[in-house]
Amino acid sequence: MKLSWKTLILWSLPILFIGFSLWQGIIVPEQVDLGQNVASSRMTYGRFLEYLDMGWIKRVDLYDNGHTAIVEAVGPELGNRIQKIRVELPNSTQEVITLLRNAHVDLDAHPAQNSSAFWGFVSNLVPPLLLIGAVILLFRRSGNSSGANNSSFSFGKPKSLTQVKAKPGITFNDVAGVDEAKEEFKEVVTFLKKPETFTSVGARIPKGVLLMGPPGTGKTLLAKAVAGEAGVPFFSISGSEFVEMFVGVGASRVRDLFKKAKENAPCIVFIDEIDAVGRQRGTGIGGGNDEREQTLNQLLTEMDGFEGNTGIIVIAATNRVDILDSALLRPGRFDRQVTVETPNSKGREAILSVHAKNKKLDESISIEAIARRTPGFSGADLANLLNEAAILTARRKKSAISISEIDSSIDRVIAGMEGSTLIDGKSKRLVAYHEVGHAIIGTLLQCHDQVQKVTLIPRGQAKGLTWFAPNEDQMLVSRAQISARIIAALGGRAAEEIIFGNSEVTTGAGNDLQQVSNMARQMVTRFGMSDVGPLSLEGQSSDPFLGRSMGSRTEYSEGVATNIDSQIQLIVQSCYNEALRIIQKNRVVIDRIVDILIEKETVEAEEFVKLVSEYTCPPKIKRRRRVLLSV
Ligand code: ADP
Ligand code: MG
Ligand code: ZN
Repeated sequence: MKLSWKTLILWSLPILFIGFSLWQGIIVPEQVDLGQNVASSRMTYGRFLEYLDMGWIKRVDLYDNGHTAIVEAVGPELGNRIQKIRVELPNSTQEVITLLRNAHVDLDAHPAQNSSAFWGFVSNLVPPLLLIGAVILLFRRSGNSSGANNSSFSFGKPKSLTQVKAKPGITFNDVAGVDEAKEEFKEVVTFLKKPETFTSVGARIPKGVLLMGPPGTGKTLLAKAVAGEAGVPFFSISGSEFVEMFVGVGASRVRDLFKKAKENAPCIVFIDEIDAVGRQRGTGIGGGNDEREQTLNQLLTEMDGFEGNTGIIVIAATNRVDILDSALLRPGRFDRQVTVETPNSKGREAILSVHAKNKKLDESISIEAIARRTPGFSGADLANLLNEAAILTARRKKSAISISEIDSSIDRVIAGMEGSTLIDGKSKRLVAYHEVGHAIIGTLLQCHDQVQKVTLIPRGQAKGLTWFAPNEDQMLVSRAQISARIIAALGGRAAEEIIFGNSEVTTGAGNDLQQVSNMARQMVTRFGMSDVGPLSLEGQSSDPFLGRSMGSRTEYSEGVATNIDSQIQLIVQSCYNEALRIIQKNRVVIDRIVDILIEKETVEAEEFVKLVSEYTCPPKIKRRRRVLLSV
């Protein structure tokens, strides 16, 4: 271990001082050596003199240069048994000795013994030694715990700066549904394995690859797969670890990370969750010169500091590319950017196949069908889905996962755990009307997604649920579709109001109203779907850190703000009127479906549409896929 002597000396000084003090008895007073004469009781000097006068004292042993005496006394007060009593004597030992001699008491004096002095010395030495040992241990711990041979003796060591050797575990085969990203990383592996192919034609190998995409889409997994495939050293650290331990350590961690990487080139440096350090500078609360900013500056410096062809490739992952500092994205740093999207139907099928490999699926199950029914699921959701299904299967003591477990697991992943049903009563009726309100509007509006099922079985926070089957991975949504969604989302409240009256409406619509407001606001401020005109007035206000978008709402004038508000109100009010109209017009069928729903708890799409079509003519059922819209 190579020590930095400056730090060692700096740290040993206080320790030596403590050790020396202990030794000298400054902190812990030296103990009186009383030999074997351990006396349990004590008495005062005055009482001792009284005992002496009475002739009860038989023997006195002096210790501690005559300051302490162990007295053997016998008398009626002591139960006529010889007892050993400890007495603290005044300073004038000579006087005591004279007294004792006059009284003809046995007298002996005991100097401190050499052997006990030795043990005292040793026992005084132990605590400082222990302390020094503990501190050395602390230093080693805070250093690289893997005990790499050239770890320097300093605090700035990321504890998880571990070198991951090509793991046999994860390869590109374990990552599915993100083919473009995979291709990109296969190339990165080639850069590291055969750089000549590129350098011989004058190509500069990129320094950094930024991997971005929503959570759970397999970014970390991809990076691990690169490590598995590349067969080069792989240094992995998570952005949050840079800022985790001590203030002022982040920057030195970055320095160490790159120092280590340079020593081990060719290699890969993987920085997970880079947004934790790489956030836009100068936007935080409390000034710009904070810990994180220094860490980021160091990172930028290090990335500029090595040449493109030294064989180090930095891979960073984030799901918040919008808040990253633009300096990170400049060419010469993370000049390659790879996006991983939430997988489409084909991608989901591939991911499901990967995760189904080690699970026992019933033969009747079609992976393709599951993939079709799970739009919007990320890779992590799908892995979770299959795992939940497997757990459920085990709980039901079945030998293979069947479609029914898959079904419940999909519902569970989307909407949370199943709760126990409400007891029959007014609230249950109200929830039933609320849900049927959503469902009937969803069914009758031409542009709305098909109803999948209506249920009164609670899940997560929701007391009842209406499931809709959206169009396959729809990218573009029309104005009519958004309006239809708003009307259907208001259907629950509309039904409550019509059936139970204005004063009986409940808080159950809170979630719906939130969605409605969001959709209406976006129609006005982002999609140009109102009389305000085709203007984009607000960015995605998704920054929880008061970051860049702070103050974006002042991009328009007061007048426009008022106009926006009135347009939102106009949209929501006209949609609500439409919802009320549809509920009113279909009151008869709604009553009937509610009765059935209360009895059966769940009404599936076919039955629902059949019932509705006995009174009107709703659109035909399309494909069966589920996603939750309303609660
Ligand atoms: P991210 O880092 O993007 O948030 P992870 O890589 O940590 O997501 O993914 C979490 C888990 O989800 C993985 O361990 C894996 O089991 C599963 N997963 C996610 N994406 C995929 C994918 N494309 N292929 C296979 N499994 C995936
Ligand atoms: Mg991750
Ligand atoms: Zn609702």
